[in-house]
Amino acid sequence: MRVGIVGAGLGGLLTGAILAENGYRVEVFERLPFIGGRFTSISYKGYEVSTGALHMIPHGSKGPLARLLRRAGCRVEIVDSRPEAEIYWNGEREVLSRRSFPFRDLMKLNLEFLRLKFGRNRTLEEFGKGLSERAYLFMRAFLGWSLSVFPDQISFGSIVPIYRQTERYRGPGIPVGGCKAVVEELAEVIKSNDGVIAREEVTALKPGEIFGVYGKERRDYDVVVSNLGHKLTMELLGERYGEVKPESRGVKYTIALDEPFVGHTGVLFTLGMRIAGMNEVTNADDNLGKKHMLQAHQPLREGSREEILAGLKELREILKGYSYVIIAVQSYKGDWPVNRVMAGMKESNSTPYRNLYVVGDGAKGEDIEVDGVALGVERVLGELL
Ligand code: FAD
Repeated sequence: MRVGIVGAGLGGLLTGAILAENGYRVEVFERLPFIGGRFTSISYKGYEVSTGALHMIPHGSKGPLARLLRRAGCRVEIVDSRPEAEIYWNGEREVLSRRSFPFRDLMKLNLEFLRLKFGRNRTLEEFGKGLSERAYLFMRAFLGWSLSVFPDQISFGSIVPIYRQTERYRGPGIPVGGCKAVVEELAEVIKSNDGVIAREEVTALKPGEIFGVYGKERRDYDVVVSNLGHKLTMELLGERYGEVKPESRGVKYTIALDEPFVGHTGVLFTLGMRIAGMNEVTNADDNLGKKHMLQAHQPLREGSREEILAGLKELREILKGYSYVIIAVQSYKGDWPVNRVMAGMKESNSTPYRNLYVVGDGAKGEDIEVDGVALGVERVLGELL
């Protein structure tokens, strides 16, 4: 079986690697001079500045992505975060635990599960109004950091699968070598199984029993997997996509520090701020930066300059007394968003064509970020293998 894969992002490479391991003839097309899309890094001023992801896998070595990497035969070491998370509020820091919030917040959470059972589903903003200020601000920071959404953009019901996955697989991990090590391993698996990764932009797709992929020339495949989300895939087919779901946007700040600020491998959630949280991945792998590399993430509704200036001001306040340089401020929207489809909005991996599938964060399973991408890939593999 021949499979053509459009886009060498994480979803495309993951699908390609496992299909190649299982005897498919795999050809991947990538329009950019590097592979990995929003899940790799570029060396800049001695730091591995990521093209998107904060070098973090939401459920670390136990989650769905780690499971698929093992299935693909990849040798990627994932350092699980210790502690998983800390909270920063009004200048004070505390390791996150159940005891971080009043008991009545837990009761309200259980009550909300009960309401959901009776079909009462409301936004997290509405649910959050009944919580203590600390719990509400934590929920807001968690959503901003993990999903780049605001509490009014997501319902309680759609966060439940993510909550369950987090209970099951726990918190994040950092791959040694960062995102780039993951995608390079996947590319290696494809190539070692006689697969090809070509630098070529796909300009059109032609459906049929044998699927045509047009780049520099037409090539034919039994199956095509698109890593571009449903909307762009339909555009390549010359068709319109019915309901375009909203993307999520954000801004990422990469900071070089002389001394560690976070000081561990987990997430520091920043409560009551525009910036939702930060991590310091050089605590897991000191090859990711020549000194200490701090990354802060801020969700955005619009790509607004004022919001970014306000985020920078917050950073200056948080890092008062530290010696640091901001080496990158990257804003994500449109063609290069935080998520092609906002968390909580369901998208299938199937298309109107039986031999065309979509993978990546435009067609995720119900989990956080790249672990959600992995669940979507797993569904496609279930159809093809
Ligand atoms: P994409 O990254 O979308 O790759 C698609 C590829 O297709 C690209 O390489 C593109 O160049 C190529 N392409 C497009 N059009 C064509 C064409 N016509 N022909 C050929 N090639 C084409 N996730 C986490 O799990 N942890 C995090 O810490 C995290 N932090 C994030 C922080 C930010 C600021 C951002 C932006 C994202 C973050 N994410 C995080 C999300 C994560 O990066 C994405 O969900 C994931 O990388 C998306 O992968 P994908 O498979 O959809 O592929």
